[in-house]
Amino acid sequence: MAEPVFPPRPPVSAEIAIIGGSGLYDPGIFEDSVEVKVYTPYGEPSDSIIVGRVADRRVAFLPRHGRGHRIPPHRINYRANIWALRSLGVRWVIAVSAVGSLREDYRPGDLVVPDQFIDMTKKRDYTFFDGGVVAHVSMADPFCEHLRRLLVEAGRGLGYRVHEKGTYICIEGPRFSTRAESRVWKDVFKADIIGMTLVPEVNLACEAQMCYATLAMITDYDVWAEHPVTAEEVTRVMRENTEKAKRILYQLIPRLPREPDPAMCSCCRSLATALL
Ligand SMILES: [Zn+2]
Repeated sequence: MAEPVFPPRPPVSAEIAIIGGSGLYDPGIFEDSVEVKVYTPYGEPSDSIIVGRVADRRVAFLPRHGRGHRIPPHRINYRANIWALRSLGVRWVIAVSAVGSLREDYRPGDLVVPDQFIDMTKKRDYTFFDGGVVAHVSMADPFCEHLRRLLVEAGRGLGYRVHEKGTYICIEGPRFSTRAESRVWKDVFKADIIGMTLVPEVNLACEAQMCYATLAMITDYDVWAEHPVTAEEVTRVMRENTEKAKRILYQLIPRLPREPDPAMCSCCRSLATALL
């Protein structure tokens, strides 16, 4: 009898996934795409997944908030999203997200490829290992170093302002920070950018032994700066950022190695030392 395949593989597969954030609901760079609905033990992912080709690579796209931006950050089913992508065969995850800046020199329109995060979320499902099997994965360096480097190179190659380091503070939301909180994140915690969706997406990708990196696009300064911005300005910056993200993805995807390279990062072996 044939060995059961785990997790079960749907008939379509992909090596690379793009998780789209605010503003990015359709990658617009796929050929021959199909839409697949994936069922998971954790319930439904944010939306059906588009699987298509970029150059000769199979790529999956999942809008984190669902098409039409229906799901707020604290209600996203992160476990279903990561499980669904892994079950398609995905090894590389490029997560795109809109963020606020906590530094004067990280300007609206700039891109950041964060290397650290601080978790200030409060009530999310953080792990696939909820009992039965216990695992503590290392999060000392939470992002894939290899994928981070390739993202920075692709962005700079296109002439964009890309910051190669940054600490992303993830808040629970859906409300924004108070001025007092924003000053704490900036001056006490020394975080560089702020958003609501990185955690637990990054932890779960790590538990799934996938190479994960974030392309963070700065929309505006957080409230510490007391720079009032109009909705019009934010919309314009977001639209320009989305164009930049698409161009970067189009450059980056064909350059990704077929398989993550254990000499370049340790993501694909994250469970080797984590299981009790
Ligand atoms: Zn990696």
